[in-house]
Amino acid sequence: MTINFNAGPAGIAAQVLEKAQAELLNYAGSGISIMEASHRGDDFQAVIDAAEAGLRRLINIPDDYEVLFLQGGASTQFAMIPMNLRPDGSADYIDSGAWSSKAIKEAKILGQGTEVIASSKDANYNYIPADFTVNPDAKYLHVTSNNTIFGTQFAAYPDSGDVPLIADMSSDIMSREIDVSKFGMIYAGAQKNMGPSGITLVILRKDLAERAPDNLPSMLNYTTHIAAGSMYNTPPTFAIYLIKLVCEWVESLGGIAAIEKMNNEKAALLYSEIDSDDFYTGSAQEGSRSKMNVCFNLANEELEAAFIKEATELVMIGLKGHRSVGGIRASIYNAMPIEGVEELVDFMKIFREKN
Ligand SMILES: *Cc1c(COP(=O)(O)O)cnc(C)c1O
Repeated sequence: MTINFNAGPAGIAAQVLEKAQAELLNYAGSGISIMEASHRGDDFQAVIDAAEAGLRRLINIPDDYEVLFLQGGASTQFAMIPMNLRPDGSADYIDSGAWSSKAIKEAKILGQGTEVIASSKDANYNYIPADFTVNPDAKYLHVTSNNTIFGTQFAAYPDSGDVPLIADMSSDIMSREIDVSKFGMIYAGAQKNMGPSGITLVILRKDLAERAPDNLPSMLNYTTHIAAGSMYNTPPTFAIYLIKLVCEWVESLGGIAAIEKMNNEKAALLYSEIDSDDFYTGSAQEGSRSKMNVCFNLANEELEAAFIKEATELVMIGLKGHRSVGGIRASIYNAMPIEGVEELVDFMKIFREKN
């Protein structure tokens, strides 16, 4: 069976796909697929309500936060955040990788104060910056929770005082327990830990939504989507349906605490193999290592290419590192079973012996 280490879109649990398959042609006795149902109908309203309720239960989202399903990917949030939440004043950013940089780029395009208070660019982003001071007057502090490309992750989030903390959790949402009340906003594209691409979850503290100025295009204004229950225009109904199924699957496993325990075990297994001698070298500094995207190198590019080729023959796919880092990247999101990581580790041992 194929073991999918793709970074995103990424694997979705077989149980989720099987449920979707079973319901595909005839959703809840309606005689049609949920994809074909009106987004204004009762069946889809029940689906989106269940997806939101599932997320609220699992992530423990307090009532003073909105839950929105938006389009345009996390990348559109890079612009919507400064448009809506920094209509004046300036905002602080921590630059911990390619996605942070893209968020910073959009904020700068929008032409107000955009302060990069710390960056790990000097070391090709192999660590999470820890040394910085947040401007107490900043409208928010933006961080990227998990750097998908460089394999680094905030082990603990910065304390931003009264400045609202905004986190791009695209690649580690629902992978560990968090205290939502510590954040002003959390957002995540679904395609790593929550479902298929095409849908972005936004969790936004209600008082922050009130900052949105009146002169924004409707689709780019959070208040539009809040007022319309994420259905100002036609939402990606099937993607929202899959999020509902993913929530049911996570709940069946025991919720996020149980998932976090499994994720810790998977990451520990892989890093301990990497650290067992210097045949493999982890690319992230210790203390900054990601439990979602495990990046490592071999002695040279030829050996790395051989590693990827042989792994692919064993139907372990998606292990090639991002072009900006090279090496190997094993993405081990929620849907990756521990058995998948065990097979990779077994292969790593054999490959080391042979070379
Ligand atoms: C994948 C990813 C994105 C990009 O998401 P899109 O939905 O493609 O816009 C942004 N941030 C992080 C951390 C990611 O992993």
